[in-house]
Amino acid sequence: MSEKTLNPFKIAQQQLKEACDALGEEDAVYELLSEPEKVLEVTIPVKMDNGTTKLFTGYRVQHNDASGPTKGGIRFHPKVTKDEVKALATWMTFKCGVVGLPYGGAKGGVIVDPTKLSKNELERLSRGYVRAIAPIIGERRDIPAPDVNTNGQTMAWMVDEYSSLRGVGQTLPASFTGKPVEFGGCLARKEATGYGVMLMMREAAKYTGIDMKNMKIAVQGFGNVGSFAAIYAQSFGAKVVAVSDVSCCLYNDNGLDVNDILNYTKENKLLTGYTGECIELEREEIFALQCDGFAPCALENAITSKNAKDIKAKIISEGANGPTTPEAENYLLDKGVLIVPDILANAGGVIVSYFEWVQNLHNYYWRFDEVQEKQEVKMKDAFDKVTNAMEERKVDMRKAAYLVAIKSLAMPMRLRGWF
Ligand code: GLU
Repeated sequence: MSEKTLNPFKIAQQQLKEACDALGEEDAVYELLSEPEKVLEVTIPVKMDNGTTKLFTGYRVQHNDASGPTKGGIRFHPKVTKDEVKALATWMTFKCGVVGLPYGGAKGGVIVDPTKLSKNELERLSRGYVRAIAPIIGERRDIPAPDVNTNGQTMAWMVDEYSSLRGVGQTLPASFTGKPVEFGGCLARKEATGYGVMLMMREAAKYTGIDMKNMKIAVQGFGNVGSFAAIYAQSFGAKVVAVSDVSCCLYNDNGLDVNDILNYTKENKLLTGYTGECIELEREEIFALQCDGFAPCALENAITSKNAKDIKAKIISEGANGPTTPEAENYLLDKGVLIVPDILANAGGVIVSYFEWVQNLHNYYWRFDEVQEKQEVKMKDAFDKVTNAMEERKVDMRKAAYLVAIKSLAMPMRLRGWF
């Protein structure tokens, strides 16, 4: 077994094709959803601290706006490609569709290693990127958010830049989400994706008759998504036996002290060198550890035909976008593993982004517990819809999630007269 392709856009198109075929949808639905509506490539000149000017390449892709304005994060990463951003935008459309948000999908990316830039250079890059994509974004048009290596601070710079371009003297907070709470952000947004990943792990466990309190969980990736996934796994009563990042994997079969590890990474950035109660393994070893639940929360193509056979977990909740290749997925499904697909498992981020946007437009703000409660309702509803579709159509959970999403997307496209 080996991968036919690792191109995420080809994989997204394949997932869509299989779901459209299973649903018996008209060919036009597949045609309309298989390519993004708009792909913008930009070159961003940035004045570096040493006085030279460097050029960076960036993208903003808007996949489909039939259901409403487009929505999706911006990633800063040296391995960003146009096809990756196209795939991520496509997945955003289905993510919003499956949880019933009035949005279509979009995504942005800049090819850059942010660890090599100073804070001032990062600010200039963020502002330059916004100037370049400003003609196609906006609070009723396309609303960006954070993704890999971007955060509330990045969004704050971007709102400031965008407002000075378009706001004519006013701030436009609803033009970006994932902002700091002190600057128009939403309580529980930072936690939302990781919280959702574990809500879905808990629902999936219940669905298969497992009590989350008896589960051992491994979390691959310790950025914003992975770290909060680990925190909430623990607060739902599970044992987090392993976490990993680019530097290593920390393992303790009796459970790690996740809060302590989080405090360590706040100071030291990486997991390596942590001296609490655990052993340090190679990062790749996380795939082979004994656990009941596995949450891949890093990048695409983490679970491949190479490591799928080592995985012991019975449930996988996908915190990252596109972490499992189709070949690895088929192998795991044959083994009876339940995979909660990315478009459902990590939808918590965009759900709470939607709440943030609504609050910005109304200038009225909700409590932390209100936000989490509303998030839970939306995600549980979607989980029930997807598992119903799974049983009715006798398909796996990813296909079922696509079926739910495609149904909700096909109608507005049909009503608009697009086919
Ligand atoms: N970047 C996140 C995602 O992949 C959040 C997107 C958003 O909040 O718009 O879902």
